[in-house]
Amino acid sequence: SDQTVKSVNPATEVLIEEFSPFTEPMIDSAIAKSDDCFKEWRKTSFEHRAELMNKAADVLDQNAERYARQMTAEMGKPLAQARAEVEKCGWVCRHYAQHAEEYLSDEPMESGGQKAYVRHLPLGPVLAVMPWNFPFWQVFRFAAPTLMAGNTGLLKHASNVWRSALNIEEVFHEAGFPEGCFQTLLIGSSAVEGIIEDSRVKAVTLTGSGPAGQSVAATAGKQLKPSLLELGGSDAFIVMPSADIETALDTAVKARTQNNGQSCIAAKRFFVHADIFDAFKEGFEARFEALTVGAPMSDETDIGPLATGQIRDELAEQVEKSKRAGAKAFHAGAGLPEKGYWFDPAILYDAPDGSPSAEEEMFGPVANVWKVDSLEDAIARANRSIFGLGSVIFTQDEDEMDMAIDHLEAGATFINTMTASDPRLPFGGIKQSGYGRELSADGIKAFVNRKTVYLA
Ligand code: NDP
Repeated sequence: SDQTVKSVNPATEVLIEEFSPFTEPMIDSAIAKSDDCFKEWRKTSFEHRAELMNKAADVLDQNAERYARQMTAEMGKPLAQARAEVEKCGWVCRHYAQHAEEYLSDEPMESGGQKAYVRHLPLGPVLAVMPWNFPFWQVFRFAAPTLMAGNTGLLKHASNVWRSALNIEEVFHEAGFPEGCFQTLLIGSSAVEGIIEDSRVKAVTLTGSGPAGQSVAATAGKQLKPSLLELGGSDAFIVMPSADIETALDTAVKARTQNNGQSCIAAKRFFVHADIFDAFKEGFEARFEALTVGAPMSDETDIGPLATGQIRDELAEQVEKSKRAGAKAFHAGAGLPEKGYWFDPAILYDAPDGSPSAEEEMFGPVANVWKVDSLEDAIARANRSIFGLGSVIFTQDEDEMDMAIDHLEAGATFINTMTASDPRLPFGGIKQSGYGRELSADGIKAFVNRKTVYLA
């Protein structure tokens, strides 16, 4: 019927399956289950939660091939990358199984009384609104710490990856988590406001675009509920003359094109020092030309299709507008299949301020490159972006490293490698890339009550 939500293979435009969204009573019953489960779950020991979370990692391992293939079918990432994603989810589960108790242990404080400390207590049901680009990882990055802290989870996943959303619910079910501890809600974005407004839901986290973040944060603000936002990025990638140029080039291509170029922490704007610009340009174009664009299930493929026709069309429009504004373009010239949401990888040079190349997030295999005369120049241009998620500098010079660390406006600076998330390291942005931090100790403290305890 018209009411169903369709999952379409972006490589072929063939319908995979259709889902019936939840009705209002179904949503209400899921929230009630989440709330009921929380009342018992919050009393369980870290040991018990860790046992289940380690089991979740085992379930991921056992079903990795099926989960990876269904993810690739739904959103088009190369299969090898989908397998790696499922594996990384096992890592984050095991990480929090091992470290949650230590991360949330009482923090003793100096005080005038006999003793004082901070104890970390869970908040209750937490809603996660998640995107399709890393259908598993974005969810596990939220779920592993949130459940280990004693909260319960409700997932509203992007409407194009509902098979993956159900697979994730299956992982927690198979691992033996109690009913209601983690639930997938098959709902569109219009149902999100009502769920945030529900008094049983205590907090919300969103990974996605700026407009989605603004909408969710506004509702959370009205309800005075905590929110965490992980939004877009247009990360700078700076290459200085002392860099190992071959490593910088290999990394630059990977950082721009992995996940078909659809990553928030992808390097999107490259600032290359004039002394090495020609060598960089030549190596970059050669590597773009060598990329294999094609069927995402094939092991030979570097880049699959973009996730939806709309995303492909928007990216094409951004490139056209940037060219009209004066950017010089290099197209890889990849042969593209007729059906599917394909995009020929491109490099845009010297786009002027005000063009999409300079100002917007480009979610696909398009690199924006500028020649710079100094690190000061590179940093100044990098900081013109409204975003501030990750950043990269390639240099052997320690003063340059320090300057980048101190002055790049971003939630992370990675040196001589690409920005990557890691369960052991905090992850998040500043400016319009959002607020709050996921992963590491920060991630598990995102949704807890840091209760001050004082004994006279
Ligand atoms: P969205 O931000 O629209 O989607 C992300 C999630 O938010 C989905 O679950 C979506 O649900 C939901 N959502 C969207 N609008 C609202 C709203 N008003 N209230 C509540 N929830 C909402 O991303 P798109 O898929 O539309 O991608 C558009 C662009 O966003 C990309 O081209 C990219 O630039 C950026 N993006 C960035 C990501 C990142 O990791 N930084 C991830 C994804 C997108 P539904 O699918 O049902 O609409």
